[in-house]
Amino acid sequence: MKNIERRQFMGSVISLFGAASLGFSGITRSSIKQIKSEQSGRKIRLRGVQDSKVTHWDIITIGNLSRNRYWGESDERAIRSAICTCSVISGEDFHVIVDPSLEDEKAMGTELYRRTGLTPDKINAVFITHQHGDHIAGLKHFMKARWVAGSEVASALNKSATLPKKIESAEESLFGTIDVIPTPGHTPDHQSLRFDFKGMSVVIAGDSVATKDFWDERRAYYNVQDPEESKRSMEKIDSIADIIVPGHDNYFFNLK
Ligand SMILES: [Zn+2]
Repeated sequence: MKNIERRQFMGSVISLFGAASLGFSGITRSSIKQIKSEQSGRKIRLRGVQDSKVTHWDIITIGNLSRNRYWGESDERAIRSAICTCSVISGEDFHVIVDPSLEDEKAMGTELYRRTGLTPDKINAVFITHQHGDHIAGLKHFMKARWVAGSEVASALNKSATLPKKIESAEESLFGTIDVIPTPGHTPDHQSLRFDFKGMSVVIAGDSVATKDFWDERRAYYNVQDPEESKRSMEKIDSIADIIVPGHDNYFFNLK
């Protein structure tokens, strides 16, 4: 590794995040500029736009898989119970929770409050990427909200008559600012969400991306219904996302 001072190294890190507009408000514009000029000159092309109604987005639970080949585990059997990554997208007049992950009502409310300061009754809409049980485990804790999913997911869940409320078919956008994008493969009617936030394009990918390791190899998880289709969906996400929120991992950057 090149021998650089800690001050310079920290500067590089801050510069990357500063360039990505993630809100290091304490750093002055001039110091960012100076630090940037010390770098290699590599430019990052962001795909989002500054103009967006989204004011916040937060991860509520970081998911995990029931078995993970990248941890040396076999696909044959579950090693642990799975939790999906659950997030909240907020604007001036809306809060959307995506894939409510926790079966236990108190735990769901606690995690939501701990990460956003919101109580479940403040959530306007729940978006479900697909019908797998771990992605709807906490749905029933948001009775005041609209429940929204892809049309096939909605009709399958509505027909199953296991839920206390109807799920609406998603239109092309939520609250006029969050794009609903088909990402089939994991399931045929899997939908992801895309929105702009401070110049970055964020995709909440649900299980169309299992974890960062699966993404890096464009690999389908063992239960994916159509691996080829899944790969095409990942390529589609690659072409539009600066930040990816996978179904069972923390969010990560996809910068070019
Ligand atoms: Zn799934």
